Amino acid sequence: MLPWLREGYGNPSSAYAMGKAAADAIATARGQIAELLGCSDSEIIFTSCGTESINTAMLSACAADPDRTHVVTSAVEHSATMKLCDHLAQRGYAITRLPVDGAGLLDTERLESAIDPETAVVSLLWANNETGVLFPVGEIAEVCRRKRVLLHMDAVQAVGKVPIRLDGSGIHTLSLSGHKLHAPKGVGALFVSRRSRFTPLLRGSQERGRRGGTENVASIVGFGKAAELASTGMRENMERIRRLRDRFEEEILAAVPGATLNGDREARLPNTSNISFQGVESEGALMLLDMQGICCSAGSACTTGSVHASHVLKAMGLSNDAARSSLRFSFGRLNTDQDVDQGLEHIPKIIARLREMSPAGSPVITA
Ligand code: PLP
Repeated sequence: MLPWLREGYGNPSSAYAMGKAAADAIATARGQIAELLGCSDSEIIFTSCGTESINTAMLSACAADPDRTHVVTSAVEHSATMKLCDHLAQRGYAITRLPVDGAGLLDTERLESAIDPETAVVSLLWANNETGVLFPVGEIAEVCRRKRVLLHMDAVQAVGKVPIRLDGSGIHTLSLSGHKLHAPKGVGALFVSRRSRFTPLLRGSQERGRRGGTENVASIVGFGKAAELASTGMRENMERIRRLRDRFEEEILAAVPGATLNGDREARLPNTSNISFQGVESEGALMLLDMQGICCSAGSACTTGSVHASHVLKAMGLSNDAARSSLRFSFGRLNTDQDVDQGLEHIPKIIARLREMSPAGSPVITA
């Protein structure tokens, strides 16, 4: 990225050589992302973040046929989709938020019966950002194909962690975000299938008229490189991360009474672990863990600071208290066995300490 922040600061829309070089760098990044997603370069549009991609995809789908005023989504989506759906509801759209079961899984028969001739778009997560639970993307795409409805996938958490081949997948649009695969924050991309009609959110001449605004060249270059690194050895990297996560999880569940895992054990990203610690307020745990250099989150990082229990865990049937006592640990390619050891050393002590400090005294552990 550094050359594009220092000497290579030309505007990619300009005709001079420095601009042309920046445009070429963007083209390379587009190719790297297309390679990771198994699609054509021309199907990738750069955006400022996953949220922008989601808004663009869903509003474009709604614009494709204004007579269709129904959106199907799930009860466990990221706040970007949830809030956009609230906004669409205010504009008169009917929103179906499909439930999930206790493991966070989606039933595609329910999806099929929710879609009607009014449905403008189905928008679903590929992988849940709080639990890592994977939705059955192949089946979802098959249902949407049968029902002839546009499908948008929020793959922000999945890209770079699970293999994705978009060509021939039946997915019309797919959102991704740089910082989930070690690119900088503030850069995203949207896949738009060449068979889909598209209406831009930001009008202007860049990105072939599909997303106006001068490109964030350095971040796009970083995103492209991150995509290339994610493609290389994905299986081995993810297996290593899965082993770290599984050892962490097994040992925490064994060492801490009243700790329970949230989300399906199998249909899950290899890097995420969401655990409820009975009788513990996750906010307090976060602070004490942070003091030991352990960075994790309560519910979704994007809603930290809010006192609401996670809507994802509540949709899975957890009580308010159980949802409020959950912590999400996620592992990446930079984590090591020593990090896991550090977590295993501190977490049981911190949970025990918080339980002793609890105003009601030590809770009765039922699990
Ligand atoms: N969708 C999911 C599943 C996410 O996890 C996030 C961010 O955490 C987003 C969308 C939003 O992406 P961004 O923060 O790049 O707008």
